[in-house]
Amino acid sequence: MAALYAVFGQPISHSLSPRIHAMFGEALGIALEYRAIETGRSDFRAALDAFAKAGGRGANVTLPLKEDAFALCEETSARARRSGSVNTLIRQDGGWRGDSTDGAGFLRDLVLRHRFDVAGRRCLLVGAGGAARAVAFALADAHAAEVAIVNRTAERARALASAIGESCRAAVVEWSALASENAFDLVVNATSAGHGGGALALPRVLVASDTVCYDLSYGSAAAPFLAWAEAAGAMRTSDGLGMLVEQAAESFAIWHGQAPDTAPVYAALRAGFVR
Ligand code: NDP
Repeated sequence: MAALYAVFGQPISHSLSPRIHAMFGEALGIALEYRAIETGRSDFRAALDAFAKAGGRGANVTLPLKEDAFALCEETSARARRSGSVNTLIRQDGGWRGDSTDGAGFLRDLVLRHRFDVAGRRCLLVGAGGAARAVAFALADAHAAEVAIVNRTAERARALASAIGESCRAAVVEWSALASENAFDLVVNATSAGHGGGALALPRVLVASDTVCYDLSYGSAAAPFLAWAEAAGAMRTSDGLGMLVEQAAESFAIWHGQAPDTAPVYAALRAGFVR
């Protein structure tokens, strides 16, 4: 029988993860079944228990469950503890080990697919949720000169900047002070604002023609930020589809011990997207 995996979240019906993991498994000759399980926060624990009883060996976790997943793990990786969230669950000894592959997935896409060298660069991170935290630590680990953080709730930005500590210059920027900033080398939208179709009120001075503007979301959720970036003059923009594939590959490698080739999977998914 094929080993059982799943992604939990709400909403989940449009998740690309089952398709991505099926393609990885097929390419490497690994038999697996990967389900999408719709679960809200109140049902998550019970749904996960039922999944384990059915033989579930590993799971991905997405909005709004990543912090709940972190809380229920018997054991967590250092990178999961830093971001305070878990997107990858591994069944072990009758419990769950939690890991976070978002930061690694983001960095692999940015560096390998977009050829952006983070070292010494000034980066602006918009958002301070779970994904933003993973991205902030990934940028600091890759030796960014500066990670400036702006968030609707300033307190969360301050907590993130102090968690990064001395490993790179992490500064909190008030939304109202953004207009006095110089252009950044990298601007990352790690908010979920685009899911509601809303545009962020960001000044165009943040962007020069060689600024890379990257939205973690993809599809229509990325459209408002990418439209803003292009209107501001950015020549290099990206949605988070590549990150999605790379974080999935990292989860796959944890579960199956083999790293899949992400290029054909990314190309197949990209063919189905406008951008
Ligand atoms: P969280 O819920 O943890 O954080 C949401 C963030 O968005 C917070 O900083 C929140 O600010 C901010 N935000 C929400 N609505 C607005 C708004 N209207 N205006 C300004 N800020 C807003 O979500 P995640 O960190 O898990 O996910 C963030 C995004 O990243 C999502 O779009 C998600 O789809 C994407 N993502 C993509 C991945 C990929 O593989 N491509 C992987 C993981 C995430 P506040 O603190 O004030 O509430």
